[in-house]
Amino acid sequence: MGGAIAFDNMDFIDLKTQQSLIRSDIEKRIAAVLNHGQYVLGPEVAELEARLAAFTGAKHAIGVSSGTDSLLIALMALGIGPGDEVITVPYTWISSAEVIALAGATPVFVDIDPLSWNLDPALLEDALTEKTKAIMPVGIYGQTADMTAINQIAARHGNIPVIEDAAQSFGATHHGEQSCHLSTIGSTSFFPSKPLGGYGDGGALFTDDDELAEKMRWIRVHGQERKHHHPVLGMNGRLDTIQAAIILSKLDLFPDEVGRRQEIGSRYTDGIRNLPGIQTPQIAEGNTSVYAQYTILCDDREKIQSHLREKEIPSVPYYEVPLHLQPVFTNLGHQQGDFPITEKVASQCLSLPMSPYLNSADQARVISSLSC
Ligand SMILES: *Cc1c(COP(=O)(O)O)cnc(C)c1O
Repeated sequence: MGGAIAFDNMDFIDLKTQQSLIRSDIEKRIAAVLNHGQYVLGPEVAELEARLAAFTGAKHAIGVSSGTDSLLIALMALGIGPGDEVITVPYTWISSAEVIALAGATPVFVDIDPLSWNLDPALLEDALTEKTKAIMPVGIYGQTADMTAINQIAARHGNIPVIEDAAQSFGATHHGEQSCHLSTIGSTSFFPSKPLGGYGDGGALFTDDDELAEKMRWIRVHGQERKHHHPVLGMNGRLDTIQAAIILSKLDLFPDEVGRRQEIGSRYTDGIRNLPGIQTPQIAEGNTSVYAQYTILCDDREKIQSHLREKEIPSVPYYEVPLHLQPVFTNLGHQQGDFPITEKVASQCLSLPMSPYLNSADQARVISSLSC
């Protein structure tokens, strides 16, 4: 390293520090599962569901196999299929639109707001048709969309169901209410790098609606109402007991981690705000963010990425190719220029190292590498 001061390699997302805090608790919880042997829908799944419901304030929480399956189960429970349209954003992880197509419906994209980078409610009404059967806003990078405005529009147009894709925003709040408890159905992911991540795949669904909750529970287990009775089409969408045990352990740390995420997010913004050529994330009024990613917009992303690379600081352009330009969605007939805000953000975005345990020395090193 030619005389430079040697640093430990910085993780893009540090999962090791957290593990060192809960490793023995996790081992105990896994041992308990090995002892009782109920690997599928065992008691830890029910315990986790009760804890998640209490945390969010939702009446029902349902553990499922992933944050993608959870969105699909939500669409299936709402009876969405061929001929239907579901609105989402082109600036998100592929799952949000993928599940709409998997359900046989058509994804209809609405561009994002230039400050929050979430669905722009001002553009929503123009995208509604009589085929619109659900609206799926995403809480990108850890803050929710303007769910209040979106819910109002949905209510005005015959109570269109709103599914919140909260895979990145679990733990965030919108006017004091928890993400996942802001609309008809909330959906989150426990993929390891998410704010509440497990050690594998998992997810959860949230609703206050008894009937929808029952249907989603059926769909999670092959549409089964009771043994050998299948009133609706379902899938294998269950959360593993061992995964639930791990997430229970992580949930104990989670409120503290949310606070740390907010502190680290603010420290990034304070340090970066005045640097030329960089836009920091704006947290909308009434929102808090869990900073699933800390993402900036760079006038010259190439230059900043190469500075970071020189210092061995990891960074990732989440999401550099918008969904309307992905080959898999060619059939939707979109082209460059259709969603200008999405395309601008996609061409400038860069996510920086972020975790609740990012220490201030490492963070200062990231910030100083941006300013050269
Ligand atoms: C991660 C993610 C998903 C999918 O979650 P998985 O658990 O990986 O299936 C869906 N939507 C968004 C916005 C995500 O970030």
